[in-house]
Amino acid sequence: GPSAESYRHQHEITVTGDNVPPPFTSFEAVGLPSDILRAVLQAGFSAPTPIQAQSWAIAFQGRDIVAIAKTGSGKTLGYLMPAFRHLKRSPKNPKLGPSVLILSPTRELATQIQDEAEKFGSSSNISCTCLYGGAPKGPQLRDLDRGTDIVVATPGRLNDILQMGRVNLGQISYMVLDEADRMLDMGFEPQIRKIVKEIPAQRQTLMYTATWPKEVRKIAADLLVRSIQVNIGNVD
Ligand code: ADP
Ligand code: MG
Repeated sequence: GPSAESYRHQHEITVTGDNVPPPFTSFEAVGLPSDILRAVLQAGFSAPTPIQAQSWAIAFQGRDIVAIAKTGSGKTLGYLMPAFRHLKRSPKNPKLGPSVLILSPTRELATQIQDEAEKFGSSSNISCTCLYGGAPKGPQLRDLDRGTDIVVATPGRLNDILQMGRVNLGQISYMVLDEADRMLDMGFEPQIRKIVKEIPAQRQTLMYTATWPKEVRKIAADLLVRSIQVNIGNVD
């Protein structure tokens, strides 16, 4: 409708795909569970950022997304909020394996994502485990053994743990590739493809990237199904 068009125009949102739902322009419009809404207001946020407004509306429909937006635009909650909703609507036993997987290029980013997941998800009893290299595997394996809803991982470490047979990705139904362009620049494509082989094809996949070069387009074409593309600002 006209209000969706004017919001997109005002916030430099471009969408490509069929039947793209209108963005959620306020937190009230989203219909967040009360505990999560409370955490968002406590964080001092007054409205969804443009990438959140548009990607929540799309991801809440269970659809695949590729989002191209620069750093600082609020992408983390852009994919975490639909992950929380997904976990609530399709609950599974975390003891049998995680339901949500978020791949991230570095340890630093992975721990930031975990912090955000705990800040907004712990009041809903959502558990999150972080797997990254340059640290002993023992504590990470113990966290996995305890059972976890969400795994945030760098591709190298997750692949190591997968080869040890210590994590089951057969229950993953929501997968995120965060900073996809950086992961490919760092040479993680073979590990990403090995990981994806362990995840059921019946899943929702979201890809977030700051740039849109042909390598990223190729992996998006291989991993996403009938995705909607969302661009924020004049990134190409
Ligand atoms: P990106 O991944 O796009 O670089 P982040 O998800 O790291 O961005 O978010 C950047 C900053 O904006 C973080 O400090 C985050 O807490 C904050 N933030 C996220 N969503 C909102 C919001 N709706 N309103 C205000 N600040 C927000
Ligand atoms: Mg980010």
